[in-house]
Amino acid sequence: MDWFQETLHPAIRQTLRVEEVLHRDKTALQDLVIFRNPTFGRVMALDGIVQTTEGDEFVYHEMLAHVPILAVKAARRAGAKGAVRKVLIVGGGDGGCIREVLKHKGLVCTMVEIDPGVIELSRKHLPNHHAGAFDDKRANIVIADGARFVKETPERYDVIIIDSTDPVGPGAVLFTREFYADCKRCLAPGGVLVTQNGVPWLQGEELQSSVRSFRALFKEGGCYLAVVPTYNGGFMALGWATDNAKLRKTPVAKIARLAKAMKLQTRYFTPELFAGAFCLPQFVHALIDGIPYGKRKKKR
Ligand code: SAM
Repeated sequence: MDWFQETLHPAIRQTLRVEEVLHRDKTALQDLVIFRNPTFGRVMALDGIVQTTEGDEFVYHEMLAHVPILAVKAARRAGAKGAVRKVLIVGGGDGGCIREVLKHKGLVCTMVEIDPGVIELSRKHLPNHHAGAFDDKRANIVIADGARFVKETPERYDVIIIDSTDPVGPGAVLFTREFYADCKRCLAPGGVLVTQNGVPWLQGEELQSSVRSFRALFKEGGCYLAVVPTYNGGFMALGWATDNAKLRKTPVAKIARLAKAMKLQTRYFTPELFAGAFCLPQFVHALIDGIPYGKRKKKR
């Protein structure tokens, strides 16, 4: 195999040069390939779809973890000692997301991954993704279907992060209203749910449908943006659902103070980007609001 061709979109194909195949096999659930590309380093694909690369994973994982955690920390600072005690990740088997979450001290993180093969092979071939996080005593790794887990857990989480595959195969259930409703049930008051929501240029309907569900269930639903080159098609959307509409308006100075206090080291995230990522182009507003920018009623 000299080239890997991604099969996610019907009319557009991303092709990556394969320098060396490190692993290619079926896990219990998915077809998994890990190969080396001269530009992006090690690349993992599941069922023909690029999941993560060593070269650009930091963008996605930093934005999935620090934006919600810092927002909730800032909101609670005056009250419960800035407490974000419990974070839940659904999916995330490559370990990049839990690595970023555990940069925050004083919290525990449960990661619910359906496919143990992804964790096992990421441990072996993508060691810089988890960077030891899987073995951190604050990490609780659960092998289960995330949809079932959120339906049944008695726990309440301050932040829930859906680091899922696209809505095909085992990940499809993680894009349903029923799943988001179950997430809301196990979200602590004032908490936030963030989701992997695809590339608006190519997966607009998926974003539209998720945001519609968020708005039916939460006081606020929307998305923020980040540019991950190997998520083909332009910037990607990360879904945002919460009952605290003030969270995304947290002043940059507050985010900066919290990031400085914890000596947060990042390569993409900055406090200014916290605010900037919520600035949406007109066509994304049109997608998720269905009406021109500025005309949406404040209360829904
Ligand atoms: N960053 C990636 C992206 O945007 O495509 C996601 C990467 S991460 C490896 C996605 C993980 O979600 C996979 O390991 C997959 O096994 C897991 N997953 C899919 N469906 C799941 C489910 N129902 N419950 C828990 N984990 C699930």
